[in-house]
Amino acid sequence: MKAVRFTGPKELKYEDVEKPHINSDEVLVKVKAVGICGSDMELYSGEHPYIKKELTRYPLIPGHEWSGIIEEVGLDVKGLKIGDRVTSDVSLGCGECLMCKKGRYNLCPNRIVVGSYKNKDGAFAEHIKVPSKNIYKIPDTMSFEEGSMIESAATCSYGIMRINMDYGSTVLVIGDGPIGQLAMQCAKSAGASKVYLVGSWEEKMNIAKSTGADAVLNYKKDDILKEINKLTEGEGVDVVIESSGNPITFNQSLNAVKPGGKVLLLSIYTSSEFMSEINSIVAKDLDVYGALGSPNAFGPTIDLMESGRINVKPLITHNYPLKNAKEAIEMIENKKECRIKAVLIP
Ligand SMILES: [Zn+2]
Ligand SMILES: [Zn+2]
Repeated sequence: MKAVRFTGPKELKYEDVEKPHINSDEVLVKVKAVGICGSDMELYSGEHPYIKKELTRYPLIPGHEWSGIIEEVGLDVKGLKIGDRVTSDVSLGCGECLMCKKGRYNLCPNRIVVGSYKNKDGAFAEHIKVPSKNIYKIPDTMSFEEGSMIESAATCSYGIMRINMDYGSTVLVIGDGPIGQLAMQCAKSAGASKVYLVGSWEEKMNIAKSTGADAVLNYKKDDILKEINKLTEGEGVDVVIESSGNPITFNQSLNAVKPGGKVLLLSIYTSSEFMSEINSIVAKDLDVYGALGSPNAFGPTIDLMESGRINVKPLITHNYPLKNAKEAIEMIENKKECRIKAVLIP
């Protein structure tokens, strides 16, 4: 089969690789769409923590945001058949350890992660194999491109599920990329009264407005804290969701949240400059949450997408044939075009 492999930092090849052979508990899926994630970009550049810690090595097949059609079913697989339209979890737990038994398989010490960890081949390829227990069917009304966004949406759903947000909360989302946009929609669908989104691209902020943001703030023009004070009558918001991975916005989150509020971190930080506002966590009696992956979130996310409460369509701004992955990656690196999600089609 054809696949895109990252062969070294900033090196990519579209080439023939062996088609995966399935075990009795696995299915083989023909990939129909696969999104390019920020973490795929880090695998490409070599900045990804798993590359740095040698938890995965070149050459590797990236891609964990995918959808496709089942082409082959292992002998022991029940409830799935050839022709089913599906996607899968990203963290594949062992199913045996204490974390897996608690349902926290994103923290399983024996887990593999599709397309990034311990060289589990990803979906930048014509086929992928996955254990059947990690597979989810997608509705017939959902396109494969939309299906490839389930994982990103589920990551945001998981974050919202994790923080037990109070009904009617006011929420500030920092970041206008796919995770910021989807976190905004998830917060709305979970009962937030008002959601404000911070970004910089006019087009992206218009998309946020059209999909439910109550106000959008431009960090290049607006004083974010001043605006949040205005919008909340000086109180601050109940919840801040930070998706930009920047120490400045992390500190901004701690300033914008009201005492007793919650801060949810949905990005990885590569800088160590975090000390300036850290005492706010103590002084404001805050709850700060991290969220890794999307355990137990695919089911509810697919339902919310099917019902239209989460709308990913306007977020898919680019698509390319898989063989043109390099062109897609260069478009993302150049940051010249307004982009939310770019999808590859094998
Ligand atoms: Zn992703
Ligand atoms: Zn486990």
